[in-house]
Amino acid sequence: MTQTCLRVSTAHLLSCLSLVLVITSRVHADIVLVGANNAEDTDGGKRFNSVMGISGAFKVLGDAINFIPPLLHNGLDSVPTKLVTKVVFTVEKQLQQGAVAITFGTFQIQFNAPSADNYEGITGVIYHEMAHVWQYFGQGTPSGVTEGVADYVRLKAGLAPSHWVKPGGGDRWDQGYDVTAYFFDYCNSLWGDFVWQMNARLANDAWSESVFSDLLGKSLQDLWTDYKNKFGG
Ligand SMILES: [Zn+2]
Repeated sequence: MTQTCLRVSTAHLLSCLSLVLVITSRVHADIVLVGANNAEDTDGGKRFNSVMGISGAFKVLGDAINFIPPLLHNGLDSVPTKLVTKVVFTVEKQLQQGAVAITFGTFQIQFNAPSADNYEGITGVIYHEMAHVWQYFGQGTPSGVTEGVADYVRLKAGLAPSHWVKPGGGDRWDQGYDVTAYFFDYCNSLWGDFVWQMNARLANDAWSESVFSDLLGKSLQDLWTDYKNKFGG
């Protein structure tokens, strides 16, 4: 499927930042939100402003900050909580490789102006990118897992778009995005602590497929087979 997101670790300096807002999260200390539309002179940038605008994006970011950490960290003291003090959100004229959005490092989100469609679509993309801000990336974590967790967050927020595959869709568990999101949702239906436990492991440990058998008592391949059989995929 079309790549919908890139996550790169290189820090990227941003300019022309305009709006700043400090929000108080239920689960964290104050988080500074910084935002700007750097594409206001383009059709996509104008569309973004008419559909959501930076102030609207701040509301979505604030909602995501309250929604995502409990989902990925479970709010338990025993789970390492990621320290996030700032999120920078900008709308850019044209992102590389046709990406809809890119998360740089751990707190800088860029949205591709030409991808601005409707409020729910943009909101879903923001939730996906905010999941990258809050999730862990243990050594060797496959990109399919990273993107699958991000779309799992979007799914649980009720923001799955109509163009996604249906549950059971896809050829490989680690295709990422919607395919892996629905598989993780199935795994989480078997044990409601699965996704946050998997994420918590990646705070300190390298990736290992044994996480499936350790947490769910079945091998990854058996789980994928069960999943495909359940949905006739
Ligand atoms: Zn992504």
